[in-house]
Amino acid sequence: MLSLEEAVERSLAAAALLGREAVPVDGAAGRFAAVDAYAGVSLPDFDNSAMDGYAVRSSDLPNASAGSPVELSCVGVIPAGTHPVDMVDKGTCMRIFTGSPIPRGADAVIMQEDCSSTRGDDSTVRCNDSVKPWENIRLKGKDVCEGDPVITAGTRITAGTIGLLAATGHDSIEVGLRPKVGLVATGSELVEPPSDLKPGEIYESNRAMLASLVARANGLPTPYPIVPDSLEDTVTALKRAFAENDAVLTSGGVSVGDHDHVKPAIEQLGGSLDFWKVAVKPGKPFVLGQVGGKPLFGLPGNPVSALVTYLLMVRPALLKIQGAAEWRLAKRPGRLAGELANKGDRRHFVRVTIDDCGLVRSTGGQHSHLLGSLARANGLVDLTPGTRLAKDDPVDVLLIED
Ligand code: AMP
Ligand code: MG
Repeated sequence: MLSLEEAVERSLAAAALLGREAVPVDGAAGRFAAVDAYAGVSLPDFDNSAMDGYAVRSSDLPNASAGSPVELSCVGVIPAGTHPVDMVDKGTCMRIFTGSPIPRGADAVIMQEDCSSTRGDDSTVRCNDSVKPWENIRLKGKDVCEGDPVITAGTRITAGTIGLLAATGHDSIEVGLRPKVGLVATGSELVEPPSDLKPGEIYESNRAMLASLVARANGLPTPYPIVPDSLEDTVTALKRAFAENDAVLTSGGVSVGDHDHVKPAIEQLGGSLDFWKVAVKPGKPFVLGQVGGKPLFGLPGNPVSALVTYLLMVRPALLKIQGAAEWRLAKRPGRLAGELANKGDRRHFVRVTIDDCGLVRSTGGQHSHLLGSLARANGLVDLTPGTRLAKDDPVDVLLIED
């Protein structure tokens, strides 16, 4: 049996970088930067006011207070988006707004709440407080300097990085290509919902579930028609899926049952395939293959096994294909609401909920066909073989919808 780490290593090794494309910055959320990007301007790009108020010389107001205000003569207004040409001389000030450039001569901004004026006379401003040099001034380059890196290759682009990229002059960014992923479900018992079920048939659910996960990883999923358990149908379906995609995910048909046709089909298509038992529960059988250099990930048919093996072994590869530097699932620390035990000899990824207070509860039955307890879960706890954890023990929860 293969350890999970070995399986992930092999899966990552099968995932070659796809390529890159330039996308508009406002459409880059969630994508992975393919290049380092640098600031085209400093942030701020000029000294500017942090407040609505008056640009002053701090030395004019050393001891100003409500009891002994200092009067300054207001010599101008600096609306946002303008550039002040006049200077603030001794005894004068200028009306200024948040983000407006600081005029020459001024070294502080007194906020308007600390000032008063006589009704009808804007030209004299009474300052009821003192200011320190550079108070309420946002200095050029204090946040980011021109030429500083704003994102490094391999990083996931967030709303914050989008803001930073735009603020430093970028309208597009090179990102890793989104992999096209074909989804092939095998099994003669499978029927598309909502058609009527004949005895022995079940609704096919893995393609829809996997499509949602693939899309969360920036993939472009395409579901293909359900493939009955025949070698010929499996070959035809896989041939088409490989022709039209960068990677193919199959579900079902990879155990040692008589009706498992994925392996011979891949061989018939001139590809190769490894069949592993990975030491995780749920999801022991896992297949990694390739056809024409494109990876095939063969997931178990049981829905919970399909989801867990996807998250642990396929998602990392789909992210790496896009140039991601990090592909582990996000973890949230919590503590157990009740006992959890793993009496088996494989790592058990237990379906749990973790709430806002960090309380972690099992979602119930843990067999690999139980979709109800999967749907209730928002995380998985990685329980090592032979462990028994007690109520209140600390655990890390891997987040399913990362
Ligand atoms: P298999 O891996 O093909 O042996 O399937 C294992 C179990 O998962 C069987 O109970 C199948 O009926 C079920 N199963 C396989 N594929 C799917 C699917 N796409 N949707 C829902 N259940 C499935
Ligand atoms: Mg099957």
